[in-house]
Amino acid sequence: MVKANFILTKSDFIQYQNCPKSLWLKHNRPDVYPAGSSSSFLVKLADEGYEVEAYAKKAVSQYSDAGAYNFQRDFLTSDGLYARCDIVKSNPDGSVDIFEIKSSTSVKDDSSHSHLKDAAFQVVTAQRAGERVGKVWIVHLNKGYVRSGDIDLNGLLTFADETVRVKALLHETQAEINTALGFLRRETIDENSCSCRYLSRANHCDSFDYFNPSIPKPSIYSLPRLFGEKLAAFVDEGRFDLASICPNEVSTQQSLIVKAHNEGNPFVDKVEIRAFFAQLKYPLHFLDYETFLSAVPIIDGYGPQEQLPFQFSLHVLQEDGRLEHSEYLADRPMKPDDLVKALRDAIQPTGSVFAWNKGFENTQNKNMGKQLPHAKDFLLDVVDRTVDLMDIFKTGYVDVGFDGSTSIKKVLPVLIPELSYQNLKVKDGGEAMEAWGKMIALTESAEKNKMRQSLLEYCKLDTLAMVRIYQFIDRLMK
Ligand code: SF4
Repeated sequence: MVKANFILTKSDFIQYQNCPKSLWLKHNRPDVYPAGSSSSFLVKLADEGYEVEAYAKKAVSQYSDAGAYNFQRDFLTSDGLYARCDIVKSNPDGSVDIFEIKSSTSVKDDSSHSHLKDAAFQVVTAQRAGERVGKVWIVHLNKGYVRSGDIDLNGLLTFADETVRVKALLHETQAEINTALGFLRRETIDENSCSCRYLSRANHCDSFDYFNPSIPKPSIYSLPRLFGEKLAAFVDEGRFDLASICPNEVSTQQSLIVKAHNEGNPFVDKVEIRAFFAQLKYPLHFLDYETFLSAVPIIDGYGPQEQLPFQFSLHVLQEDGRLEHSEYLADRPMKPDDLVKALRDAIQPTGSVFAWNKGFENTQNKNMGKQLPHAKDFLLDVVDRTVDLMDIFKTGYVDVGFDGSTSIKKVLPVLIPELSYQNLKVKDGGEAMEAWGKMIALTESAEKNKMRQSLLEYCKLDTLAMVRIYQFIDRLMK
């Protein structure tokens, strides 16, 4: 049954625009709605929002008419709309100006998320609550800002007057809100399928399994980049099981997953793996960085939403099988001079450098080269020597247990089940970022030391996992 007193918030409205059914489930069947745990990355995003909000408040507090500004003003309407506006300014003519604060570096207006639509929801709610809305502002971070000393509020924030663009959306937003309210009040909907059947897995939300209980695992959604007419044809024919797909009906990469599934064995292309191995030079290095992404830059020389590397783990495997480990973890926010120095000391002058998804490590090396010109040549040499271990798992070694993914978090448990992230305090990059953010705020203490150990353990496992995966493939080739 629909709750008589439900309210529609801006977050709900965003969810409704992405998928009415998932919002209906959340409101009407909370007992089966897969709420999921709020990831540490999402928690961090929320914290960043509050941080930017605090700076925006500071900025308006300096205005000569600061008394006209209210922070976090709520609007609730009799038909169930609720808006908490970040800043509301009361004007002498009785109207109000609405300010939406975002931790992005621009006003987003694309198919995945529109800040203008967010603001339009706030305006409609304020209007229905009896307000006359004057101007509408989106406050976001200034992409061109580079920190130098204390935060310069005028340099950090951009106040974009989006009155015209937001008001142009009011008519359609009113209609969408009315449709959303009507949809949510429905007592029943079709709970036995949903439209994402026609979309690749990247588009599915956590409710997919609930709405599609008959789809097996693995299924056609384990095939990477399966979309469009081909996916639609399989869905229309009810062919969800991989066993119903012939390898020659899909792309080469997809066909390897089908083969691995149908034959009950991993697909191994020894010719391809041999060619991959031929480019390698000992000693083999296995490198992983952890980075901190902050909305508001925490050190000089950095801008909003710029990544700051704070940690690395490096395993070095010699040709005779000796394995050495080096690591670095910054104790405070600082440019990565010490990190690069530690890397220089640990990395050998020759030999391949493995990364998993090398684009990330290469980007960090190039960016650090820009920040630290004296280390640029060294870092670019590391880039030149970097090889992506993940590449093997695209078409060289494919196990259906990877579930169509080449993420190390999917590959490791299948190949090296005894190495697991499960018992670690820090389990992924998002948690590492959050843990470091907390750690640097602490003074020396047992708690800080525990966090330090957790971060070191996590990053070390990332590179040890690469070593073990490499050795697994190496043994296979002998
Ligand atoms: S998986 Fe289903 S419920 Fe989830 S977003 Fe897609 S259509 Fe909506």
